[in-house]
Amino acid sequence: MAEELTIPGQEQLAAQLRAAARAGTLGQAVILSGQGDLARAARFAAAAMECQGDDPPCGLCPACRKVLRDIHPDVITVRDPDHKSIAIDVLRAVRSDAYILPNEGKRKVYLFPDCALLDPKGQNVLLKVLEEGPPHAAFLFCAESSALLLPTIRSRSVEWRLAPPPPERSAGDRDARRLCELLCQGRAADLAAFCAQLENSKIDRDSLRHLLSDARDLICAALALSFGGGDWGDGLVRQLTDTLSRRRLSALADILESFIRQCGYNVGVGHLTGALAVALAS
Ligand SMILES: [Zn+2]
Repeated sequence: MAEELTIPGQEQLAAQLRAAARAGTLGQAVILSGQGDLARAARFAAAAMECQGDDPPCGLCPACRKVLRDIHPDVITVRDPDHKSIAIDVLRAVRSDAYILPNEGKRKVYLFPDCALLDPKGQNVLLKVLEEGPPHAAFLFCAESSALLLPTIRSRSVEWRLAPPPPERSAGDRDARRLCELLCQGRAADLAAFCAQLENSKIDRDSLRHLLSDARDLICAALALSFGGGDWGDGLVRQLTDTLSRRRLSALADILESFIRQCGYNVGVGHLTGALAVALAS
């Protein structure tokens, strides 16, 4: 089966948009708000509106492919590079154009990549077509904050928010994730090098315990996910579930648990990292 089209880092939003598209509740005026790749999310939503497949956006039908390559004649990105804000004339032209039937698509989609460029006067020009425009016309507003849009526009739109960016990861957290990536790849030499590097970095027992606990939590989340539960928002957890068997995940959780315990004893870090490399490779 072909891989399902998604929005990187916004899998939950993608699933919600997909469900709405399937139910026909995506809305005629859509606000995509938040920090992140709004353009990508907007293209996904536009593809969902134009898709000719059964599970919009399928990413494979001619309509989806054109939207994703930015060459669909009925998905119009509204820009006005000559002015600071999008000029009234440009918006009036959009308003008139919205009444003309689509060239080939199901809808005519007007995409506003940055609503900071849409001043209140301009927004008012669009109000009427949002309110009583033809059913084939759709509007996609991208805004870091929907507060950039007038309440009258917001009340006529459905807002979809991007998930906030993940918090900055600490060095220990990064190492725990790195360890899990290496476990997915399963190369003993790389795991040994990673453990040697931990020793060389003069990591103390407490930090090592934290690192191993974080890695164990990721493995346990992957184990839970393999049984249909847990957090599927973390790409690494999914990768662990996809590449390692339940049996292996469960064995790794046990190994890490035992080393977490040993970090509580008065054992040299060099001894622990060396033994860990052997245990993880087996
Ligand atoms: Zn499609």
